[in-house]
Amino acid sequence: MLAEQTPLTALKGVGPSLAAKLAAIHLHTVQDLLFHLPLRYQDRTRISPIGHCRMGAELVLEGEVLTTELAFGRRRSMLCRIKDHSGIITLRFFHFSAAQKNALKPGTRIRCYGEVRAGKTGLELYHPEYQFVTEDQPLPNSTHLTPIYPATEGLQQTRLRTLIDQALSMLGDGETLVDWIPQQIREHLGFRSLTDSIRFLHHPPVQGATDTVLFRLAEGQHPAQKRLAFEELLSHRLCLRRLRDQAERLSAPQLGSRGTLTKQFLAGLPFKLTRAQQKVCGEISSDLSQGKPMLRLLQGDVGSGKTIVAAIAALQAVENGFQAAVMAPTEILAEQHYLNFSRWLEPLGLQVGWLSGKVKGSKREEQLHAFSKGGAQIVVGTHALFQESVTFAKLGLIVIDEQHRFGVHQRLALREKGATEHFIPHQLVMTATPIPRTLAMSAYADLDCSIIDELPPGRTAVNTLIIANTRRDEVIERIHHACAQGSQAYWVCTLIEESEALQCQAAEATAETLRAQLPDLAIGLIHGRMKPREKTLVMDAFKGGLLQLLVATTVIEVGVDVPNASLMVIENPERLGLAQLHQLRGRVGRGAIASHCLLLYQAPLSQTAKQRLTIMRDSNDGFLIAEKDLEIRGPGQVLGTQQTGLMSFRIADLSRDSGMLDEVKVQSESIQQNYPECVDPLIRRWLGDRELYGNV
Ligand code: ADP
Ligand code: MG
Repeated sequence: MLAEQTPLTALKGVGPSLAAKLAAIHLHTVQDLLFHLPLRYQDRTRISPIGHCRMGAELVLEGEVLTTELAFGRRRSMLCRIKDHSGIITLRFFHFSAAQKNALKPGTRIRCYGEVRAGKTGLELYHPEYQFVTEDQPLPNSTHLTPIYPATEGLQQTRLRTLIDQALSMLGDGETLVDWIPQQIREHLGFRSLTDSIRFLHHPPVQGATDTVLFRLAEGQHPAQKRLAFEELLSHRLCLRRLRDQAERLSAPQLGSRGTLTKQFLAGLPFKLTRAQQKVCGEISSDLSQGKPMLRLLQGDVGSGKTIVAAIAALQAVENGFQAAVMAPTEILAEQHYLNFSRWLEPLGLQVGWLSGKVKGSKREEQLHAFSKGGAQIVVGTHALFQESVTFAKLGLIVIDEQHRFGVHQRLALREKGATEHFIPHQLVMTATPIPRTLAMSAYADLDCSIIDELPPGRTAVNTLIIANTRRDEVIERIHHACAQGSQAYWVCTLIEESEALQCQAAEATAETLRAQLPDLAIGLIHGRMKPREKTLVMDAFKGGLLQLLVATTVIEVGVDVPNASLMVIENPERLGLAQLHQLRGRVGRGAIASHCLLLYQAPLSQTAKQRLTIMRDSNDGFLIAEKDLEIRGPGQVLGTQQTGLMSFRIADLSRDSGMLDEVKVQSESIQQNYPECVDPLIRRWLGDRELYGNV
């Protein structure tokens, strides 16, 4: 019987309602259950003397009940005192029945397991698991560590353990669970068999060296874990590669490089493209002319000039009679692109369309008409562009800016947009959050990668200082001084709350205070809840130098470009990710004047926060910052919550297992070529029903 094909209802005790609970945590088949691995382990193989208990320890105790009584405090509880030859301890229960109390009679022997805590009566065992024992009854788990599984409401550890034990007993000698990593590769990598690894991880045997085994397991360094982590990473990569292959089998419009519009455009620019920009433009241009869909990730640090590259790509589509759509994650960034594209492209006789959720009524109708009839050759907007009501006459290229804000499944959905029977549009994805190589290899294995590794000439590195908010007055004096010298400044307010409303309130309050403290400065305010027109007015006033200080929420994080701004204060920087801080900081240092960024933190700082801000102070290199951020915070956070669907590995951990990725790449290619029959089962096993790949 194949574990992969056996539904959980085949197990004893699994009816429809339990099956539904299991399905909620993605457990459908016996195979899923076998891959539901413990989060951690407990050592219940020894009975500890009560007298040796220490705070925080989790252990098995055995003793004779002295008294059992109720205590009425803030919470009603049942206290049961037990004793062995070495001491006495109290067990404290918060949920209990009268029958339970009656059974815990003085003189009975019980064995219990729990965590030692400091309670009212001294050291206590809080809500332990317990059982009655007779003299000299052996421990049930004398041979292996006790697994603690990821559980969910209404699904207890004990329940999961019995089910998994049933599944393990079906394992037999390896026919139940097929090892989809071909033997040759397994041998090459020195892996033990899958069945062995699974058995081991559910029930690690205890042979003397418990502490070492526990330690390696806790660190994810045990060979059995590494083998499974490898298999998981391999499966993810195979899945992304398959997406890529599927896309490659489709055609895309062949957009030859004609150079009519692009030449004119370049000639009109006040600067020359950097060498790096030329290189990536070449890569993109060659992709577009292939007749196969381009799937390219363009990485470039803040200010490296990605927008121009996008415009040049868009022009190549237009030269061939196709439309290009440019999408940005926020209203403010989309608007900025819209303004830039209009300013650049309308002189060439092109029409640039605009759509966001806030464009309504007849304006919206007008725009939609221009998209669907082809009146607008270039269309800029937020994700509103990809709503159902939007259609394009002849969409040849999609540009997505700041990709890290969008999840992988969104990227896939976008590929569908603009697809016709005959072709799908080319896709260019741009990000200023430098993606560490390890992440790029896993999260973007379906994309080719171009990097702009050079900033336009004349940029000055931003000098970053870390300052406690007790020195706020000095900071305000500094702003005063900088503005008196003719330069401009940002004051960025951050809040932990996700609520945009609160962020905006905080920014409003800060602007009030600063206006009182700096009465001779012209101070503006910008936040996400303002009307687009109001935002434009404020931004224009700041750009035009009418405002000297701009108080903002993190809405200005991306895209905003005012070269004369040379000072930025970021309040509570400890609340933001490093990548986000780097983005914010990228708003200054765009002109010729020396720029400064003041990280005004709320004292005291935690050790990690201190470490992170120090990295910001010491480096202006987005890639280095991202690598460090990954080390400190883990991949889910670095890529943003949207990405958690992709990044939630069951066993693998990208920062811990990044050393495997090169081998994963090699072996995934080998499997695709030599063992194609293994690809599907691997993907199904590890990615199963997960929503992310639902539309694959
Ligand atoms: P990002 O990569 O962060 O999106 P932008 O495209 O916004 O960067 O470019 C930042 C600024 O640099 C813009 O004002 C842009 O006009 C300018 N810029 C772009 N390329 C060059 C270049 N080759 N030389 C000088 N300035 C450039
Ligand atoms: Mg940009």
